[in-house]
Amino acid sequence: MIKRVINRCKDYLVVLPGFEHRYIDRLKGKVSCLLYHRVEDYGEHAFLDHGGSPVISEPDFDRELTYLKQLPTQFYTLADLYAGHFPDKDTIGIVICFDDGFKCNYDQGLRLLNRHKIQAVFFQCTGFIDSKFLNWEHLLYWLHQNPKTRPALIERLKFKLEPTGRHAVSIRDMRDIIDSKFIEAQTLLLAEEFGLRKEIKKLASQIYPDQQMIINAFNQGFEIASHGHGHYKRDTISDELFEFDLVQSKSALCGLLGQAPKSYSYPFNSYTPKDHDRVGQFFNMIANVDLARIDQPVSETSGLIPRLTWPGKSTNRYRMKRWLLTGKF
Ligand SMILES: [Zn+2]
Repeated sequence: MIKRVINRCKDYLVVLPGFEHRYIDRLKGKVSCLLYHRVEDYGEHAFLDHGGSPVISEPDFDRELTYLKQLPTQFYTLADLYAGHFPDKDTIGIVICFDDGFKCNYDQGLRLLNRHKIQAVFFQCTGFIDSKFLNWEHLLYWLHQNPKTRPALIERLKFKLEPTGRHAVSIRDMRDIIDSKFIEAQTLLLAEEFGLRKEIKKLASQIYPDQQMIINAFNQGFEIASHGHGHYKRDTISDELFEFDLVQSKSALCGLLGQAPKSYSYPFNSYTPKDHDRVGQFFNMIANVDLARIDQPVSETSGLIPRLTWPGKSTNRYRMKRWLLTGKF
């Protein structure tokens, strides 16, 4: 309770007379990369929320873009920064990014961005494009949310958690600890056992984009970057599979767009100390999530792009400003 009151006070603090300008001034001469995942109604495809895939509604996203636009803001793509663009000392640089590559972003998200005349970067998981089946992670969420399949799912996976000493089998434990390839195989078997192929195909067509949506976005000037192919949890897969996933994703985007993507973002923001070098063989810029801002031109950096993740639905209108001005709440 006390924590909640303190948190609410912090929301008001950001917008007190004098304070808001101080926060705005701090952003000038730097670039903030804001990371979103899904733009759709809250509760639509609730199984994704159940697994922790953050969603922002179209009206809330609209409010955030409207607020950013009335500041002395210049919007960029990462390709713009790579080409040498950077805000002057009186301008706030913003890059809008989306990870994963859900269909709703090319639909509601892109519609809104076009209305505001703002370009953005779509980090696309290439395995989602035109997929007739759910990716292992989304299938895990869906089978876990469904009371009919949850017991069988837990039965198949729980022995993998025994060595960790965890007795509660939460969806996050399963996703984060068990190797992604094992989950992929087991969830596929379970879907077959319960005769769910048709239902899963329908869901996949609702949440994943087709090739044409991505080509259309690219032709409108949006940047398409890579978020890997299979969206595997890095610390559960081998170095060889990680590198194969990079190659697969890059070649899929080259084939689709006729040019190589410049940037890559780590699924789950998960990587090992040597991964920057591995990724650097295939991409010019690497996006992670470490709450920092870019304070010098990208040509003077190693090409590592820090980002700030949208922290979830605001409980009041001040909190939205707090996230945009401080990067957290
Ligand atoms: Zn992701």
